[in-house]
Amino acid sequence: MSDLEKLRTFITSFTELVETKPEEKEIFEKGGQLLKQLVSADDWLPDEYAKPHPQYYQQFLLHADPLERFSVVSFVWGPGQITPIHDHTVWGIIGMLRGSELSQGYTYTSDQQLIKSGDPVRLNPGSIEYLSPAEGDLHQVNNASDSDVSISIHIYGANIGAVKRSVYKEDGARKLFISGYTNTALPNVWDRSKELNY
Ligand code: FE
Repeated sequence: MSDLEKLRTFITSFTELVETKPEEKEIFEKGGQLLKQLVSADDWLPDEYAKPHPQYYQQFLLHADPLERFSVVSFVWGPGQITPIHDHTVWGIIGMLRGSELSQGYTYTSDQQLIKSGDPVRLNPGSIEYLSPAEGDLHQVNNASDSDVSISIHIYGANIGAVKRSVYKEDGARKLFISGYTNTALPNVWDRSKELNY
């Protein structure tokens, strides 16, 4: 199986899943299985979408569903990099591909304060994490390593590059943002000419 065949198979299967208009619970069950399969081997992500930036964590778009029902992003952490506290407003499934990351959940109280909810969750290669807006989807994520690159694959229940959401300061101050994508070109998962054996 060529590198991109794994990604294409994932995209096709996930599209078939969203075609059935599943509830979030079913997306987490079935979509989580599909993502688990995708991150079970770290041999398919092209280097171009695995490059860290010395200062900023990178978000490479791997696929956007044309109806914007989901998007697939490779999240590349340089050593020690960390996100602000943020929400998503749409469901998310995160699969750890390489290295490790730590996700600290937060609760936004009715008087606009942030409280840590529980201990940080550590994702190691092959681990899956679920983010549900209904259950609270605020977190701060960091590369668990100060020396190595870490990469996780994120599936969101929309084109995340179009979703208005918020970042939060420790004091609870909230600011709207839309996250961007690092790349301008997508991996070409649709070239199947290599499949001809003769
Ligand atoms: Fe997040």
